Amino acid sequence: MNEQTLDENARKPRWWQWFGGGSAEDADEPGMDPAAPPGAPRELTAREVWLPAKRRMISKIADFLIDHDLEILPATMTIAYECVTGGAPRLAQLILERTEKGLPITLSWIEEQRGESTQDKNGEALATLMSRLEDSLDEFSRTTTGARTATSEYSSALKQHVDELEGVGRAGMVITELAALTRAMMERSLAIETELACSERRAQTLQTALEETRRQADMDHLTGLPNRRAFEHMLEREMRDAQDAGESLCVAFVDIDHFKRVNDTHGHPAGDRVLKFVGETLNRIADARCFVARHGGEEFAVLWRNHTVDKAWKKLNAAREEIAERRLVNRANDSPFGKITFSGGIADAFAYPDKSAALKAADEALYAAKQSGRNRILRAGESPDPHAEAA
Ligand code: GH3
Ligand code: MG
Ligand code: MG
Repeated sequence: MNEQTLDENARKPRWWQWFGGGSAEDADEPGMDPAAPPGAPRELTAREVWLPAKRRMISKIADFLIDHDLEILPATMTIAYECVTGGAPRLAQLILERTEKGLPITLSWIEEQRGESTQDKNGEALATLMSRLEDSLDEFSRTTTGARTATSEYSSALKQHVDELEGVGRAGMVITELAALTRAMMERSLAIETELACSERRAQTLQTALEETRRQADMDHLTGLPNRRAFEHMLEREMRDAQDAGESLCVAFVDIDHFKRVNDTHGHPAGDRVLKFVGETLNRIADARCFVARHGGEEFAVLWRNHTVDKAWKKLNAAREEIAERRLVNRANDSPFGKITFSGGIADAFAYPDKSAALKAADEALYAAKQSGRNRILRAGESPDPHAEAA
């Protein structure tokens, strides 16, 4: 057990151990003076405490930059600092995963990941704000409707009283004055009723606008598909519902092959059009039991309710074949894009202890599909077929 833990630590990069991965190297206390005779305790100065720690941090930052072959720039220094001090735990985890896959860590890749995580956070904050606003609006609508009903009932009662009072006007001046006062109150109450009705209409308009904003916050604007945030919510909901209903659930990750080449050859706007096309084609398999989302970059995620892995595989494979058979042309200059293909990995969401293990299994199957030649879809745990079609 211990041996395995040590082995795992030994495989992690040097900077990761500082980030919290732990290793024998980090076990020594900051400020310990190896030259001090044993049994001679003394108070350490602040400098003695901090200097070794500072040195080690600088050396970990340097290790990070050297290990990933990153240039020494303000941007890369900041990233290295955030990763080794635990200031960017998600980014550090992504870097570790990518390193373990043997993929390079470049500044543009890091910036892309940071951009996505900022968008995620903004989306999350917007959604929370909208939920609060919606709750306040609901409360406001209930209150105004209640107040308007009460005012309206009060007006009817007043009207009845004023009619009765005018009927007995001959009883004297006092009663006539009382009738005039009551009429004034009635008019005021009618004005309030109109104002409240107007506020209610405005609240309803605002509520509709909020619903639209919420829809936009869950949508990827390039492809029009649900975004990663919407996908994660949907996955949680479907896992709960499918489990309650005793139904199966499959999850897949799809990644366009060599998409960087499309951008490099044809430019980013043309790359965007290819992304839209792939998104639209994939979305054609979506129905009441199949949900397709853009997971980020040139990656998509698919969920199937009540499908076996084989059935889900067939549907995704049909979309893969359809895209691979098309010969797309860049409408800006009529140059062909060549064959556009994607790779995919599918997993049974309930074959793993939890949601993240299921997503990891689908991601690993996607990685295996890439490694074994691309333009193919693998089920989690499946060995690649050496005769399968390749990109
Ligand atoms: P692989 O087959 O291994 O997946 O190779 P790849 O080139 O597809 O993968 P890589 O991760 O190297 O590059 C992905 C590229 O996708 C890089 C990034 O600029 C591009 N990309 C991500 N999002 C968008 C986007 O919204 N529009 C465009 N045009 N490009 C994007
Ligand atoms: Mg790709
Ligand atoms: Mg990718």
